[in-house]
Amino acid sequence: MTATAPTPTLPPCAFTPKPWKGPSRAEVLAMRQRYTHPALFTLYKDPLMVVDGHMQYLFDETGRRYLDLFAGIVTVSVGHSHPRVVARVQEQVARLMHTTTIYLHPNIGLFAKALAERMPPGLDVTYFVNSGSEANDLAMTMARLYTGNQDIIALRNAYHGGSPTTMGATSHSTWKFPTHQSANIHHAINPDPYRSPFTGTPEEIATKSAADIRDLIRFGTPGKVGGFIAEPIQGVGGVTLGASNYLREAYGAIREFGGLCIADEVQTGFGRTGAHYWGFQNWGVTPDIVTMAKGIGNGAPLAAVTTRREIAEALTGRIHFNTYGGNPVSMAAGLAVLESIDADGLQENSRVVGGRFKDGLLSLAKTHDIIGDVRGMGLMLGVELVKDRKTKAPAKEETLEVMERTRQMGILIGKGGLDGNTLRIKPPMCLTAEDVDYALYVLDRALTGL
Ligand code: PMP
Repeated sequence: MTATAPTPTLPPCAFTPKPWKGPSRAEVLAMRQRYTHPALFTLYKDPLMVVDGHMQYLFDETGRRYLDLFAGIVTVSVGHSHPRVVARVQEQVARLMHTTTIYLHPNIGLFAKALAERMPPGLDVTYFVNSGSEANDLAMTMARLYTGNQDIIALRNAYHGGSPTTMGATSHSTWKFPTHQSANIHHAINPDPYRSPFTGTPEEIATKSAADIRDLIRFGTPGKVGGFIAEPIQGVGGVTLGASNYLREAYGAIREFGGLCIADEVQTGFGRTGAHYWGFQNWGVTPDIVTMAKGIGNGAPLAAVTTRREIAEALTGRIHFNTYGGNPVSMAAGLAVLESIDADGLQENSRVVGGRFKDGLLSLAKTHDIIGDVRGMGLMLGVELVKDRKTKAPAKEETLEVMERTRQMGILIGKGGLDGNTLRIKPPMCLTAEDVDYALYVLDRALTGL
């Protein structure tokens, strides 16, 4: 259990949702099953219906409150229906919703400038799109155009999107259809020491993993590459990360062979990792291209690619256009998110509250043998569950059972990893210490007697 006394109930919350007057849960489920695409899936044996949100909490149609530790899949960064974001979006929708970038509007310039101010010097021009997949597509296109090299190196266990090009960069059989994907994408061994085929200290594994990039380039490409795309901490892959020397050595290898380095900050950006605003800063590297989505908009369909001007120029040889990209409403949402991260002190909160959470998880690992590994930074944490600490056999069914149990106790949690056996904790960054203590209490109970 945690150092402090656990709270056996959810911490109090002043918000009360309005009574739900819409279609019943049964009707919603029936419509969903009959009319929506069968590829859509829900969590839980008995799908949860969610109709209201307030900061770190969600409410079902009966008004029951849940602590949301998954944040709409790492997307609600500053809080559900954060008042500042709501106000700015409402104001903008009422005034002007859409124009496209063929006319001037202040919001796009203001937001691009605000992002540039938060990036390392030189990374100061931005193209806006609507999803992480689009952002990564565009980043890889720019890297290929700028360098003239077609080959891209990605990492095993990565997730970069579901479009044909990004599906090619994604490295989980579970997310890859047997369809045509971008050719010339090669997957190097990721540096996660817990499941690495290499042996040694985490630092040695990182060095060996970075050396694998060199081999891949020498054996599998024309000896030159367009770029390298990597998440500073792999998200969908189950919060996997290597030692602090990895990304520096990997970027070094890529640059030796003419490639650009793309940091996929879709999950790690905007203060979530606590110590830094951007995930790559934890590893002391500066990428050439940064892609962002999810937390950038707190739920607005907003994504972005920031790079240096000379790289961006590579995309001006033909026309590139994105109808909704940079629209006034999502730009207003993005600006309100940046302001809220600063005004609410959310990066620091991620560091402090995330540290408390991680310490608590490490304590749970002492009493629950099913916990094979606890990893992550700030409010991006993963708990890998294994049937046996020696064989590391993934505890898939047990992970699902933990999710069912935590839901019963008012906690929504995510999962990830190739085998779906890592609990993913990535809540809105406004999570409090009391929320953490309650979550740890619930996890302790849920992990008992599996
Ligand atoms: N990159 C990362 C790291 C992601 O986690 C995701 C989404 N899970 C994407 C890219 C793709 O984003 P989207 O679903 O918005 O296309």
